[in-house]
Order: sequence, then C-alpha cells, then structure tokens
Amino acid sequence: MCKVYLLLGGNLGNRENNISLALNYLEKEIGVICKKSSIYETKAWGLRHQPDFLNLAVEMKTDLKPLDILKRTQEIENLLGRRREEKWGARTMDIDILFHDDIIIQTKELTIPHHLIMDRMFVLKPLNEIAPNLIHPILNQTIDQLLKSCLDTLLVKQRIT
Ligand code: ATP
Ligand code: CA
Ligand code: CA
Repeated sequence: MCKVYLLLGGNLGNRENNISLALNYLEKEIGVICKKSSIYETKAWGLRHQPDFLNLAVEMKTDLKPLDILKRTQEIENLLGRRREEKWGARTMDIDILFHDDIIIQTKELTIPHHLIMDRMFVLKPLNEIAPNLIHPILNQTIDQLLKSCLDTLLVKQRIT
C-alpha cells in the first residue's frame, strides 16, 4: 500500500457539493481516505479575477500506480463537469497529486511531488493540517518548514464547520 496526498479544489458550481462528490468518487476509485483537512476558502492563484476557490487536502492509501491515479482523478474531474479552457482558469474540480510515498517522477505527463507545492499557501495550509512532519523528498524540508518560508500572500481562510 502506498500513501498518497491529493489537493482538491474548485471555484465553479456548488463548490461544497462538488467536493463531497469528489471525495465519494475517490474512495470508490482510488482507495481509503485516511486523513482529510478542513476546507479552506482561497483567492485564485496565478490568474486573478475569478471566483474564490474551496480547497482541501487528503491522505489516501492505495495500491494504484501514479499514472493510474492521474487517469482516475482526471476521470473524476470530467464527471464533475471540468472543462479545460485557459491555464489556471475557473473549474468545477481540480485534483492534483502532491506526493506518492517518496516517489520522484519528472515526465511530461506527471510531476511528483507536484512542482508548485512550496509556492502555494492554498496547498501548504491544508496539507500542514494533516501532515506537518511529512518531508518533501526533493527539498528535504517538512511541510511545516515549507509553510513557514512560503512567500505567497494570497488569502487562505480555514472554514470552521
Ligand atoms: P497546476 O498543475 O499548476 O496546479 P492545473 O492543475 O490547472 O495547474 P491541469 O490543467 O489540471 O493543470 O493539468 C494539466 C496537466 O498537468 C495534466 O494533464 C497532467 O498531465 C499534468 N500533471 C503533471 N503533474 C501532475 C500532478 N502531480 N497532478 C496532476 N496533474 C499533473
Ligand atoms: Ca492544480
Ligand atoms: Ca490539475
């Protein structure tokens, strides 16, 4: 069994509902969700002037290989109405693979660890809630250390449920 961390996010449609549907699909298609962060409301990163996102991080146990996870997460995005238009544009659901055990993959199709983890507060804050001591296998720093040195100033607000 491998331990995988995913980041879910969306800013179109019924955002809460899309997240709960995505979590159900993930359990059906990928494996067991062992940890789940709170939901964070975040300003759009990279491309401004679009609705705020809801984001959360999950830890899963799975037997699937990274490329199979990518394929299945993309199918889930499609089921939830994802349209691929402009880069970093608005979307109903985006599911990024952050880590897959200590695996390092750098191909055109797939980069693991995800290449922008350290530059994104909307990734680091939810991830730090469930895995503060996880070590980034390339940067050799914990999520907590990456969070403390991250320069991203966009607002990331934890939702109290
Ligand atoms: P970003 O990756 O900067 O967050 P994005 O999520 O908006 O941008 P997408 O349009 O969802 O980008 O994905 C573009 C491509 O990124 C996918 O088709 C996939 O092949 C590739 N990709 C590379 N590494 C990963 C990863 N770790 N998780 C998910 N997709 C990845
Ligand atoms: Ca993304
Ligand atoms: Ca993506």
